[in-house]
Amino acid sequence: MICSRIEYRDFRNIESAKLELSPEVTILYGKNAQGKTNMLEGVYLFAQGKSHRAGRDNELIRFGANAASLSMEYESGGRKNTLRLDISEGKHKTPYKNSVRLDRLSEMIGNFRAVLFSPEHLSIVKSGPSERRVFLDVAISQLRPVYMRTLQRYNTILMQRNALLKGAKAGRGSASLEAWSTSLAEYAAKIAVIRAEYTEKLSNIVSELYADMTGGREEARLQYHGTSRIGGDYGSEQRVREIYRRQLTENTEREIFLGSTQYGIHKDDVDITLNGKDAKFFASQGQQRSIVLTMKLAEGEYSKRETGEYPVFLLDDILSELDPARRSYIVSGIRDRQVIITSCDTSVKRRLRDGVCYCVKSGVPTLISKEQV
Ligand code: ATP
Ligand code: MG
Repeated sequence: MICSRIEYRDFRNIESAKLELSPEVTILYGKNAQGKTNMLEGVYLFAQGKSHRAGRDNELIRFGANAASLSMEYESGGRKNTLRLDISEGKHKTPYKNSVRLDRLSEMIGNFRAVLFSPEHLSIVKSGPSERRVFLDVAISQLRPVYMRTLQRYNTILMQRNALLKGAKAGRGSASLEAWSTSLAEYAAKIAVIRAEYTEKLSNIVSELYADMTGGREEARLQYHGTSRIGGDYGSEQRVREIYRRQLTENTEREIFLGSTQYGIHKDDVDITLNGKDAKFFASQGQQRSIVLTMKLAEGEYSKRETGEYPVFLLDDILSELDPARRSYIVSGIRDRQVIITSCDTSVKRRLRDGVCYCVKSGVPTLISKEQV
């Protein structure tokens, strides 16, 4: 997967800009707050349909403008394609593929694939379960378009069930609760089975990479941990559905009291262990970072195995935070694929061999020639 060009209009602090990207390394360097991350965010929007950091789409539109637009050219399976995304104030984003308007944003997901390494991700091990769930959802939805729609359906049912629980607490009755529980359990099982399978495959790659990184001294593993509490055995969707259904129907009194759904995939987690112990409590900061980075490398590796192509790797200033040994492991781990790197550190330019380098200043990228590097 190669992103060959991206154009921005009124996106964040970028009024109008175009980047021609190297099929190998592209470096965006510049001082703080110039628009480097904004440029990566634009590329990532095509992979994920939403930003990794904006809560609302309006934040993506340049201050003072009322619409933003991004367009990209990419190559996949030897074919060139274009994607465009229009973002207008107060409206849903409008996606286009090869100039044809797509009905839904979810139809765009899975066309262009990218893995983002962002400083925000460095807390995946330490933070609460929701960030680990997002990690899985983001990775899986790029590989299985139907996954995102299933998740959206689940969230809609969850909202309705929660509204009913609140209503029941206020004395408005709960006659249809059982039907909602059955329906929620059905979608929960679909999602849990996919997440558990993905986690297991990813865990194998993570443990390989992590052992490699530490010379075999340390072992990292991941395991999906559902509220259905069935350990690693998610083989039968029917069985998982029954467990979720039972939890949802047997605890309604407590759920009505709390006014929200206490069981389901919105409560699930991923257990991350280092040498058999919970990494959240026992791994050092550097080890936690290394686990997250290997999870991200593994995400790319898994995507390559499933689709035959590496996704584009987007590295948002993460190398500067690593010690030289781990940094060189990551850099050597991302050879043979397209990488876009942001950095404040001009020494990063020295890594440039066959790549392209832009200096970003106030939202304007300037191509730096090889002689200037
Ligand atoms: P750093 O090195 O600190 O990470 P950066 O170059 O990655 O910096 P960005 O996060 O890309 O910086 O851009 C930050 C700038 O973009 C900020 O100054 C911010 O105010 C500006 N910005 C963010 N959203 C908008 C917007 N909607 N309109 C205009 N400017 C915006
Ligand atoms: Mg930045």
